[in-house]
Amino acid sequence: MTARFISSPRFASRGYGRNHPLAIPRVALAQQLAEACGLLAEGEYLEARCATDAELAALHEPDYVAAVRRAEDAREVVQADRERYALGVLENPWFADVFTRPATATGASLQAADEALAGRRAFNPAGGMHHARRGRAQGFCYFNDPALAVLRLRAAGLRVLYVDLDAHFPDGVVESLGADPEVLALSLHMDTGYAYPFAGGSPEDPGAVNLPLPRGANDEEFLLAFDAVWPRALERFAPDAVVLQAGTDVIAPDPLGKLAVTTQGFLAAVARVVEAAPRLVVTGGGGYHPLLVARAWTGVWALLAERPLPAAIPPAGRALLREVRWEHDEDWVAAWMFESFDDPPGAGGVRPEVEALARAAARHPRLA
Ligand SMILES: [Zn+2]
Repeated sequence: MTARFISSPRFASRGYGRNHPLAIPRVALAQQLAEACGLLAEGEYLEARCATDAELAALHEPDYVAAVRRAEDAREVVQADRERYALGVLENPWFADVFTRPATATGASLQAADEALAGRRAFNPAGGMHHARRGRAQGFCYFNDPALAVLRLRAAGLRVLYVDLDAHFPDGVVESLGADPEVLALSLHMDTGYAYPFAGGSPEDPGAVNLPLPRGANDEEFLLAFDAVWPRALERFAPDAVVLQAGTDVIAPDPLGKLAVTTQGFLAAVARVVEAAPRLVVTGGGGYHPLLVARAWTGVWALLAERPLPAAIPPAGRALLREVRWEHDEDWVAAWMFESFDDPPGAGGVRPEVEALARAAARHPRLA
């Protein structure tokens, strides 16, 4: 099966202004690392286009879309829009392409859905903005491209399984799509009792299959939780297509994540999805450590393109990673990050609470 890597030169520049967790190199760095490893072939790259107003209106309220556009055009957010739409605030700051950048990430997710409909796998690392609401920005997210990708596949008559590996509960997606019986959302995330968005994501939610993980969840626990629900979701829900949100903030040491998953643990879950999904759209998502993000998304792309990752990161890739400059704590950078795609093995062992959580999730009514 052929695969497409969807991006835009727009993502080579940093968005989100200054002093924001997303004001770091991410999408272009991942693409450059994949290229440096010889993993991205000519003809696989697809240039992202901006979503149209009509496309955004499939989910978002027109007055909100107009407000985001106004913020870009006027080069500022007026007080009324700040209050009503949570735009131009610390969490969702104003920046020069505050409309065009997220609208392009959204266009790319719609292109990815079209690629999946045409029988190709697609990866849109700029997408996965799963907190955006119909009528306001939230959690660094302006437009909910993963929900819009699901809606595009639904419009083609497909049953869609949404799988979210990001460390945070995808409240915007679940709220947008929760009531549709032809859509099922499955999410592993940090328990909202201790982590953003501090609400939702409970295992008791009848509409979505939620696996709220405790702090420090390791590879064994992450994969036990994933394996408790993934094969069952495939068999019982029988999706025609899967939209996978591949946020990398589960990987330690992510500055905002509080889990202890390794790159290889994360990629093991992605590999299971790639192997079995009948049609597949993969988006990016969270991930606030540029080196870990670039390594993990290069790994995601290698799985989609069915090429093995090199045992060692080649010199051009190492040089690329060494050039990255961003504000970080000293202990967030280690020599192994430049050497290979494998992190040092983390702690093992499964806590009883995670075992119980996995058992309960397997009995979720939507998986019956
Ligand atoms: Zn996240």
